[in-house]
Amino acid sequence: MRIFKSIQEFNEARDGLGKLSFVPTMGNLHKGHTSLVDIAKQFKNKIIASIYVNKLQFNDDNDYLCYPKTIDEDIELLERHGCDYLLIPDDIILENIQRIQAPFKSTKLCGQNRPGHFDGVLTILNKFFKIIDPNIVIFGKKDYQQFILVKDFIKNNNLNIKIIGGNTIREPSGLALSSRNNLLCDAEKSIASKLYEVLKDIESDKDKLNLDLINSKKDYLESFGINVDYLISCDPESFEESYEIHNKNLVIAVAAFVGKIRLIDNLKLTKL
Ligand code: AMP
Repeated sequence: MRIFKSIQEFNEARDGLGKLSFVPTMGNLHKGHTSLVDIAKQFKNKIIASIYVNKLQFNDDNDYLCYPKTIDEDIELLERHGCDYLLIPDDIILENIQRIQAPFKSTKLCGQNRPGHFDGVLTILNKFFKIIDPNIVIFGKKDYQQFILVKDFIKNNNLNIKIIGGNTIREPSGLALSSRNNLLCDAEKSIASKLYEVLKDIESDKDKLNLDLINSKKDYLESFGINVDYLISCDPESFEESYEIHNKNLVIAVAAFVGKIRLIDNLKLTKL
């Protein structure tokens, strides 16, 4: 795997790299990330991953500073999964950056209590897209709202990029893999697995889907000391609250704090 440690180094090599499939990450890689590299292998393109902890998308300085970093292990994992290139940009990436304002739907779900988060996400991705010029990008649907916002961004800006969404990779307990899981102790991890348990329970009861069902599951999570930011049944594109499972597919999305760690998850409910 060829590693580029600066934007300049990458720019000088770009013309010789051919068509690229791009997997952006913030590092501390796990099987969720490598599943995206594995998806990329289905295409003829060379695969490029990036590792960059994007300051612009953090609202909490402590969260940014504590973000786990394991660069040597990350490189080894990417190499083992057949990634061709890795870009680890320097902070030059932020110089003269064009600020992107995410659309209204970014104020729903994770945007409610993380103002500006998706502006930061789209701002850095727009810059990465300009530098890397990929024609395929792969994102995880674990970050469902991010996936939809990036899909919309690509479409609305007529970018010549195909976006592919990878399914969420989970621990045997159901807990969605996340770099933030490394900040949980074993007892917290076991509590965190309740998030997926609740999503699956709502799915099993989807014929009775309504606000009362959602609220009872929220109470259940809170009985374990989980601080629920949101648990919502919503339209998969607009993220507006909806219970119309007889008319359309929905998404159940959750964000919650286990101790000080904020976790997210979601499950698609197919129309009845
Ligand atoms: P991050 O490093 O958290 O910014 O994530 C980089 C990419 O990996 C994003 O597209 C995430 O949605 C994706 N990702 C993170 N966790 C998982 C998971 N458990 N399963 C699938 N994709 C994931």
